[in-house]
Amino acid sequence: MSTAPASRPTRRAAGLGTSVFAEMTELAVRTGAINLGQGFPEDDGPREVLAAAQHALAHGSNQYPPLNGTRPLREAIVRQRLRRHGTRYDPETGVVVTSGATEAVTAAVLGLCAAGDEVLVFDPAYDSYPAAAQLAGARCRRVPLRPGPQGFGYDPDALRAAVTPACRMLLLNTPHNPTGKVFTTDELADIAEVCVRHDLVAVVDEVYEYLVHDGRRHHALAAFEGMADRTLTVSSAGKSYSLTGWKVGWACGPADLVTAVRAVKQYTTYATAAPLQDAVALALDRYEPWTAGLRAVLRSNRDALADCLRAAGTTVLPAEGGYFLQADVAGTDTPDALEYCRALALRARVVAIPTQVFAQRPDPYGSLVRFAFCKSPRTIAEAVARLEGHV
Ligand SMILES: *Cc1c(COP(=O)(O)O)cnc(C)c1O
Repeated sequence: MSTAPASRPTRRAAGLGTSVFAEMTELAVRTGAINLGQGFPEDDGPREVLAAAQHALAHGSNQYPPLNGTRPLREAIVRQRLRRHGTRYDPETGVVVTSGATEAVTAAVLGLCAAGDEVLVFDPAYDSYPAAAQLAGARCRRVPLRPGPQGFGYDPDALRAAVTPACRMLLLNTPHNPTGKVFTTDELADIAEVCVRHDLVAVVDEVYEYLVHDGRRHHALAAFEGMADRTLTVSSAGKSYSLTGWKVGWACGPADLVTAVRAVKQYTTYATAAPLQDAVALALDRYEPWTAGLRAVLRSNRDALADCLRAAGTTVLPAEGGYFLQADVAGTDTPDALEYCRALALRARVVAIPTQVFAQRPDPYGSLVRFAFCKSPRTIAEAVARLEGHV
């Protein structure tokens, strides 16, 4: 079959349409496997929040909301940031509601990076980051997080070595997907120093801000010295409130950075689903305590899966925050993570993702496998039973 020239993707879009996720999801469907590759929960968020969205839908909240989001949601976001991090935002000029955190990050990169600019990103990285850079004609400079028994190590020299005069932005994710790392205050203070010294804009993806385990704390880079006027903080209701299908996110920051996001949003989505916005405002104002229950389930799922993977001969790295744990399969008889994942799908009917797909190149992540533990306890128990029987 021939392809008409006009239907081929441009260089900006080339290669963005395919991923190992598609292969693994297809494998999960074909083998009837439990899919611990994709990170979305099975149980929905707070019932009262779902009811608030239904109410809004039934009572006339169905036309275009303002581009930057409904006033109640913007005010709830401002209250949440002040309460948790002491950071202050103007609800008119300092907040924009987006169609998920993904839109906020992509719009920030498109709105703030010119062709040829460079973006510092920790490796491995959430897959939308390099895609956003490519769409902007910008280049990612990857700073490796080194896997070890204590988790993924931050290397201050590696960050400094990666900075060039073309660097315009640092794109940080904490708590971090796919590693499960939660950046410490010392690490964030060091990152802040680099941003200030090199006059970088920081875009921080905090979608897992509530999902921090074992008494650790999530800290906002925007609250560090010199960062308030150069940081765009991005988050979303998806992960914290188990509402991933809603795609309601936001970005907060100084007016000039928020304006750049709004400029792109104006001509991509223009606005985000109206009836969901007041419900998300309710979640932020009243259902923060609900996230404690979610954390407890995640922790117990994580520990069950970790115990079973250790018994199977892998080394499990500390999962400090978020939805995912990392198992090192180097000590097993299938030390290549990609092969391990294919074999696991066929033998145990459990699908996971080789971590190297999030990295620029396999080394030093070639033997790491990412498992999602955000499923229901029943699904995790079934996955554990399958793994115990077949690994
Ligand atoms: C899941 C995830 C997102 C997606 O957030 P949406 O609000 O659904 O767009 C963004 N960033 C990271 C790191 C994620 O893991």
